Amino acid sequence: MHPDLPSSLAPGRRGGLVDPFGRRVTYLRVSVTDRCDLRCVYCMSEDMAFLPKRDLLTLEELDRVCSAFVGRGVRKLRVTGGEPLVRRDVMGLFRSLSRHLASGALDELTLTTNGTLLDRFAPDLAACGVRRLNVSLDSLDPERFRRITRRGDLAQVMRGLDAAQAAGLAVKINAVALKGVNDDEIETMVTWAHGRGMDLTFIEVMPLGEVERDRMDQFMPLTAVRARLASAFTLSELPDRTGGPARYVRVAETGGRVGFITPLTHNFCESCNRVRLTCTGQLFMCLGQEDAADLRAAMRTSEGDEKLLAAIDEAISRKPKGHDFVIARRAAPALSRHMSVTGG
Ligand code: SAM
Ligand code: SF4
Repeated sequence: MHPDLPSSLAPGRRGGLVDPFGRRVTYLRVSVTDRCDLRCVYCMSEDMAFLPKRDLLTLEELDRVCSAFVGRGVRKLRVTGGEPLVRRDVMGLFRSLSRHLASGALDELTLTTNGTLLDRFAPDLAACGVRRLNVSLDSLDPERFRRITRRGDLAQVMRGLDAAQAAGLAVKINAVALKGVNDDEIETMVTWAHGRGMDLTFIEVMPLGEVERDRMDQFMPLTAVRARLASAFTLSELPDRTGGPARYVRVAETGGRVGFITPLTHNFCESCNRVRLTCTGQLFMCLGQEDAADLRAAMRTSEGDEKLLAAIDEAISRKPKGHDFVIARRAAPALSRHMSVTGG
């Protein structure tokens, strides 16, 4: 048993988390806040109404629920949001969770961030055992970056990237491909990212949450991104699969990797190893479905973890076989919740 886990959470006590389709759940993405210092056009509206503080899991509750998952065999935790680094004392959570890395119960503690606060936090993250992180960046043009994020300062993100790399953190860049917005930068971004030793993944825009603009106008299939890249570079397919929706190619000219995340296709559901926890403690077993389990209630109504563990087991037994996006439905987004709440 790991010394840092209470006996009720000892791994193997109940076995790992295996869903009805035999998939082992080893990866938890956890949103620690719905707030953000940016307002990316595809993610948030200009005047977002954020959740009242009492609805959010406290940092202690976040530690408790993450530790419960680690106790049940989760090997990888990704902290996300909203912007995780705007949550007050989020470093306290990282420090606390790093004990599971030290004990060997956890393989990886990582985060997805917009990078605006990395210049301040990169050394602390590295000290907590974070080895790599994803930074979302959709344009290398300062004006365009400001337009997409409605307020972002590209130079600040660049300082963040410098700080992360100086702290020894491996950085992967995530860029949402937006037709007519950043599609002319696809090749430039590859050359830039690989020149700095960073992988780059393109993401298809997903129909999540209400935002002002019709997302169909910006939708760019990654087949189009890939075709553009194939005419500029020599691409070779890589077998790397992470249990997630990304596929990878190697770019011969740069030596780097490019990933493609096409969440709207069903091709990765068979190997899905992940679940997502919102900042309010709702556990979503599938990004594309509305079904969720209320782990906050399980924690707030009981001091011990038996109820929480039972709620987790029950939720995993309901993990669906696959997801259900409908991007063609123009009138309403397929899912009403925003990515910033669910955790991207
Ligand atoms: N604030 C952090 C960031 O931007 O990296 C973490 C949270 S953000 C919701 C996580 C990822 O989701 C980002 O890479 C963002 O571009 C992506 N995202 C947000 N809304 C999306 C949408 N509607 N479709 C596709 N990706 C989206
Ligand atoms: Fe904030 Fe990330 Fe959403 Fe942009 S994508 S608004 S940075 S949460």
